[in-house]
Amino acid sequence: MSNEKITLHRGLAELKPNLSARFWAMFVDLFLFYGLSIAGLFLIGQKSITSFEISILDCVTMVAVWILYFPVTEFLFGQTIGYKVSGLKVVDTQGKEIDFTKAFTRRLYDLIDFHFTLGVVALITTLFSKNNQRLADMATNTFVIGGESLSCFSCNETFILEPNERLNGHIECPNCQAENEIDPLKMHS
Ligand SMILES: [Zn+2]
Repeated sequence: MSNEKITLHRGLAELKPNLSARFWAMFVDLFLFYGLSIAGLFLIGQKSITSFEISILDCVTMVAVWILYFPVTEFLFGQTIGYKVSGLKVVDTQGKEIDFTKAFTRRLYDLIDFHFTLGVVALITTLFSKNNQRLADMATNTFVIGGESLSCFSCNETFILEPNERLNGHIECPNCQAENEIDPLKMHS
């Protein structure tokens, strides 16, 4: 009897991808990164951003801002400022935080995903890949988790997942207390 009750209150939940959260994270990160880069260039003496004479010092400054903003914060905290405000986190195939080499390599792919293609490559690969990975995620075997919308299998109530809830593999519905099972990293089977 009690076994039957547990079965009734446990089921596979349906997840919807975190696309809008990721869009806002990208927007915040690129805005801050380019803002900080321009501030950095002025700090080292660049007089105007319209009459650019790019020196080695300018390049070093931009690369330094880039390393600090993206790979370093992702390695230390698992999230950039944009990811933090959007409730996202980047993890590896084990659901663990990524090391510096992986964070660095992953962000190098941003050049193709965002900077040189205005986000077109990121958009297409995220929309059409099986687990909503953009090019950088696929190349480095990483996943951006958190912000998915979960529909309770039992009562259909919808709520947004935190990264850790996604990794837990199951979550109790705050509405009906049914236990929703989720595949920690795969969006679609
Ligand atoms: Zn429910």
